[in-house]
Amino acid sequence: MKRLFLSIGLLMSANVLAEQALAPIGIVIHGGAGTIERSNMTEQQESAYHATLKHAVSQGYAVLEQGGTSLDAVSAAVIVLEDSPLFNAGKGAVYTWDESHELDASIMDGSNRNAGAVASVTRVKNPILLARAVMEKSVHVMLSGNGAEQFAAEQQLDLVKNSYFDTEFRLEALKKAKQSIAPAPHQAQVPYNPAWKMGTVGAVAIDKQGNLAAATSTGGMTAKRYGRIGDSPIIGSGNFADNDSCAVSATGHGEYFIRYQVAADICARVKYQQKTAADAAHEVITELKQIGGDGGVIVVDNKGELSWAFNTQGMYRAMQTQGKAPISEIFQTKQ
Ligand code: ASP
Repeated sequence: MKRLFLSIGLLMSANVLAEQALAPIGIVIHGGAGTIERSNMTEQQESAYHATLKHAVSQGYAVLEQGGTSLDAVSAAVIVLEDSPLFNAGKGAVYTWDESHELDASIMDGSNRNAGAVASVTRVKNPILLARAVMEKSVHVMLSGNGAEQFAAEQQLDLVKNSYFDTEFRLEALKKAKQSIAPAPHQAQVPYNPAWKMGTVGAVAIDKQGNLAAATSTGGMTAKRYGRIGDSPIIGSGNFADNDSCAVSATGHGEYFIRYQVAADICARVKYQQKTAADAAHEVITELKQIGGDGGVIVVDNKGELSWAFNTQGMYRAMQTQGKAPISEIFQTKQ
């Protein structure tokens, strides 16, 4: 009997060791940051957001649990969000000034710093899949416009009419944005109103092998003009992953995120200043607010610590860690 307990004990500790040898898996997603207030939302809307966020994060987590890669996990989560009309990516993307949709996306593999990105695509149903194809099937990192779509067709990705991305509430947002822009001589001179977008999506994850990945996808900013491209498809700005430090997906006023290289800056502080990813994210997002940049980030470091930081009233977000149920949040939580 004693021997039986002893061998069960040994078996259990062997299992524990085997689990410890593998990295703790985890995934965090976001669905955009901005002026998100409970008073502007019905209960049904709130529960629809929670349900979709939880569904997306659990799709990604299932990939990790089955031993899949962080790249597959972030892709799976982002596809759910792109297919949902609730978010500003894929179906439900915001409108450009000309009442169409131009989508940006990027993905990065932290194990080798490979990356793929697409900008201003108008017919690709899931831009994140095209970004991934650019990374894995082309010799380039970033493709845009018609060329990107030609490549999407060659890769046999789903192409749709631009009207597939239409939604009534985003059209309303465009009309409101145009009214406030109209008196200004040039759109670039108009103060940015964060309420005109919201809903960019992203995911970061760590898999059993300890590899990090990040993915970001967006329709950009309502009423954008002249082929404007935001931070989401720019590696180091709206997206970054490096096993040596962390993986980040960002959302917010893209012009600031580009100029301050937000995603790469967070990971640089982790790598060179030995900060935790949570502290680095908090610092960068706080500094950004001081210069007028609204937004937020989700982060995972190479030890599997998951976190988020934002300087707006809310950020759609969810996470799932080893052996736990998914949690989703929308508004600011009291510290
Ligand atoms: N960062 C995106 C952009 O500027 C918008 C957003 O995250 O809401 O295109």
